[in-house]
Amino acid sequence: MTDLARSLRSRLEESACISAPEVVSDSTSADGTRKWLLDVGLGNAIETVFIPEVDRGTLCVSSQAGCAMNCLFCSTGRQGFNRNLTTAEIIGQLWWAEHALRAQRRITAENERVISNVVLMGMGEPLQNLDALLPALRLMLDDNAYGLSRRRVTVSTSGLVQQIDKLATACPVALAVSLHAPNDTLRDRLVPLNRKHPLRELMAACRRYLRHAPRDFITFEYVMLDGVNDSMAQARDLVALVRDVSCKFNLIPFNPFPGSGLARSPSGRIAEFAQVLIDAGIVTTTRRVRGEDIDAACGQLAGEVQDRTRRARRCDAQLPPVVAAAGS
Ligand code: SAH
Ligand code: SF4
Repeated sequence: MTDLARSLRSRLEESACISAPEVVSDSTSADGTRKWLLDVGLGNAIETVFIPEVDRGTLCVSSQAGCAMNCLFCSTGRQGFNRNLTTAEIIGQLWWAEHALRAQRRITAENERVISNVVLMGMGEPLQNLDALLPALRLMLDDNAYGLSRRRVTVSTSGLVQQIDKLATACPVALAVSLHAPNDTLRDRLVPLNRKHPLRELMAACRRYLRHAPRDFITFEYVMLDGVNDSMAQARDLVALVRDVSCKFNLIPFNPFPGSGLARSPSGRIAEFAQVLIDAGIVTTTRRVRGEDIDAACGQLAGEVQDRTRRARRCDAQLPPVVAAAGS
């Protein structure tokens, strides 16, 4: 970088280093979805997934090695938490994917971008790693870096209320909230964080976020679990729950993983559930399952985080009563 002043170059030499993420594996699905497993040291790996579509290219980025939230239906959560990723490790996923995809497509034009959207929906709870996330988000938005629109960068959270407020003022981007249940009794079981921040608090945080958000709606994600959260009565309760929040729904067919003890709702039931929301005037989409043949679908982003908590075993022990109660 001889165009930089010599003094700045020597300061950089002392305080910074440039290193690319180390790629453990690189696989491409029959539907074009591409997944990289990246080494983050001490036997841990994280995953980054690129999902090509006709009108956009979306990169699904990880924010932590593992996750402490322990949601019942999530294989990342089942492995426990290892550590927060650094800003470099978060933005490094975008850097790496953009380079790899440009090479694959033989793109040389500087201003032509392959990745148009970024979603923080990989491994981890992004708002639990806000200190590293915020500088990474700013680089995604900065015209001198990636120049993505705020509307095309989405942070997905399981519902950390204070951090939603912080994101609203520090770096408002599109927000997705993982809802998964229409009432506290069920959500307490599916998303344990709900015991700390119940739905009333979460809905209030969503309303506050909307005053800052680059989009005029919150996206609610709702994983469709057979016999657990997919009845028509639950769909109607959901409509009542979100009546004061401008929102869209994204229904996610559950991606089963060994030992989950849960099953995906049949597609007919997902369609009926969606119809209840649509009839109430809520824009509702059902996520297409992508990259299943390379385990790149939602909730399968397990990487190779070492389970130092032995949580997987504890969870399995809890499963039967939890599912039975949730389904009743
Ligand atoms: N921790 C954040 C973002 C990462 S998870 C969050 O929970 O929002 C991204 C999305 O995948 C969330 O909506 C999550 O609930 C969903 N998900 C997790 N496990 C899943 C599974 N097995 N099948 C389908 N969706 C799943
Ligand atoms: Fe963590 Fe999100 Fe998985 Fe819950 S769904 S365990 S918050 S990654």
